[in-house]
Amino acid sequence: MPLSCDALDHDAIAAWLRETDPAALAALWRRADAVRRARVGDAVHLRGLIEITNYCVRHCAYCGIAACAGPLRRYRMTLEEILACARQGRDFGFGTVVLQGGEDPGVTGPFVADVVRAIKAETGVAVTLSLGERSEADLRLWRDAGADRYLLRFETTDQDLYARIHPNVPGTLSDRFAQLRLMRRMGYEIGTGVMIGIPGQTWDTLADDILAFRDFDMDMIGIGPYLRSPRTPLAGPLGLELAAAPEEQVPSDEVTTLKAMALTRLVCPDTNIPSTTALSILDPSAGRVNGLTRGANVIMPNLTPPEYRVLYDIYPGKAGIHETAEVLADRVIALIDGLGRTIGTGPGSRGRV
Ligand code: SAH
Repeated sequence: MPLSCDALDHDAIAAWLRETDPAALAALWRRADAVRRARVGDAVHLRGLIEITNYCVRHCAYCGIAACAGPLRRYRMTLEEILACARQGRDFGFGTVVLQGGEDPGVTGPFVADVVRAIKAETGVAVTLSLGERSEADLRLWRDAGADRYLLRFETTDQDLYARIHPNVPGTLSDRFAQLRLMRRMGYEIGTGVMIGIPGQTWDTLADDILAFRDFDMDMIGIGPYLRSPRTPLAGPLGLELAAAPEEQVPSDEVTTLKAMALTRLVCPDTNIPSTTALSILDPSAGRVNGLTRGANVIMPNLTPPEYRVLYDIYPGKAGIHETAEVLADRVIALIDGLGRTIGTGPGSRGRV
């Protein structure tokens, strides 16, 4: 099957996603790695993840910190706590910090603007926000405060499936593509992504998702396996109801995730692609490396203090990670050294080598 970027139309992508022949897959991995090297180079950019709140008003059926997922102790970090994590990230040499959280009106627009200003003034690192669907006024405020990027996964291009797994907050209409377009106009770099293997995701849907990354010219694309979170509706009867026929349903396994990442590198050759935490949870020994050698060029080590990290329980497996931020950072840096790759310096914005 063709692997050149132009030949990768919907049917070719869907066929590659279903591919199981080891020799064909080896060719896909080699091509994704070669395109990654030629277009974004050997640098692996490190973005320190700070999970600033686990409060959430949404009822996303897959997510363990959704309002309906319970019981869970909730927390919000203070400005000083967040700033301390950002300083630590800067000291580790990270060029970016990512402030992520549930959709939490208690984390107000002005508060986040103060946090962004403080981080920029004190550390100079790039700031990415990932705080869900927020008002135009908040997004504008944060951009004016100096925020550089925003991550908002569209989760699926299948609008019926989206409505089932990501219900509207009453009185509002969830349109993540509209927010992504708005943020791009405001000058943010925009990041998006999908989970692999959510019940109801078919090979055709996933091929459409990958083409949407290209059509929207996304600057960052995060792809990770769907991990069943036991406290959520999607892990129960809803998941069974939504699941597609076995020959159409995308599995939430490592090789399918890697195929989606590799194909994304081919159709979006100069975008930033993280080797995601979810992938490393699915395969603790090799997931991160497999991602980095099949198209990825970014890692997001966790800077959240362990006592909060265990409560940011969007999927299982995270709660077991009790190591300090230093240990996590050292491990990631050793892994990149071991691959003969370099640590990215500076903010690591989207660009060509
Ligand atoms: N509230 C923010 C940040 C959510 S966490 C937002 O909604 O954008 C970031 C991503 O984690 C989500 O976009 C989703 O794709 C992923 N995620 C959530 N639950 C997950 C699960 N059970 N398995 C794998 N990924 C999950």
